[in-house]
Amino acid sequence: SKQARGWEKQADRKIGRAAVLGAGIMGGGIAYQSAYKGIPIKMKDIAQEGLDLGLSEAGKLLSKRVARGRMTPEKMGEVLSSIDPMLSYEGFDQVDIVVEAVVENPKVKHAVLAETEKQITDDTILASNTSTISISYLAEALARPQNFCGMHFFNPVHAMPLVEVIRGEKSSDAAIARTVAYANRMGKKPVVVKDCPGFLVNRVLFPYFDGFSKLLRDGADFQAVDKVMEKWGWPMGPAYLTDVVGIDTGVHAAGVMAEGFPDRMKLDFKTATEVMFENDRLGQKNGKGFYDYI
Ligand code: NAD
Repeated sequence: SKQARGWEKQADRKIGRAAVLGAGIMGGGIAYQSAYKGIPIKMKDIAQEGLDLGLSEAGKLLSKRVARGRMTPEKMGEVLSSIDPMLSYEGFDQVDIVVEAVVENPKVKHAVLAETEKQITDDTILASNTSTISISYLAEALARPQNFCGMHFFNPVHAMPLVEVIRGEKSSDAAIARTVAYANRMGKKPVVVKDCPGFLVNRVLFPYFDGFSKLLRDGADFQAVDKVMEKWGWPMGPAYLTDVVGIDTGVHAAGVMAEGFPDRMKLDFKTATEVMFENDRLGQKNGKGFYDYI
């Protein structure tokens, strides 16, 4: 509608600077994609190692582009310098949107969101990259829930087109429109979805992970399952995908899904990932998950 186009135009002008909280697998990817598409971004973590990792991942992606002749070294320098790594909230009062991408733990997210809200202006959008936690529930920590919504990217951020923009009970139209506009400017394909644990994609994906875990319990070999799913046409099987996602994130997300849908989501995937978590097998992020990477 005309009115909706009006919102989008306003939204498009609005997002000039961004920030991301958490410089992990997702935060690093979001920072790279934003900077690459010309929107400078502050990247905040609580640990210097996190920042170093996020920056080196961005550097690797950019070097590949330069090596393929698809980017000049000057442009690479420009993109890298528009990612501003930090351990404080310096300059957060000058950004138009903050994407939260810290660990998938409701308590940590509540604390981080409430703390961040105090550092940003009244019309800055705050969006969470949570995989599974209800946006209306996360909004309970906030004084301005109208400025908050979900902005769920997929892994790896630079390669996956979809972004779920999640409308919480109190999210305003402007917050949704501006988040959609930012996703578009990042070259992504945003879809606006309803709020519930897991939103849309993970409502489909978690029963699949659960089916995979049941096969393991019945004695199947995970490598065989992966090979079969790849032959069937999927880019990777469930074991490899779990390693890419991160076992710790998988455990947390599976817990949220099991709690959100106790009658429907069985706990097999949670149990499988918990066993691996207890054995310090975190997936690709620490070099050992279902597979070994070193
Ligand atoms: P990760 O473990 O790779 O990174 C998390 C980062 O958050 C770490 O660097 C950690 O130091 C940092 N952190 C922790 N507390 C913080 C705080 N208070 N302030 C700032 N930084 C803090 O995790 P990830 O895989 O990047 O996941 C982050 C979020 O993205 C989670 O909500 C997850 O569910 C979601 N997500 C993950 C994937 C995936 O495939 N891994 C996909 C989509 C969404």
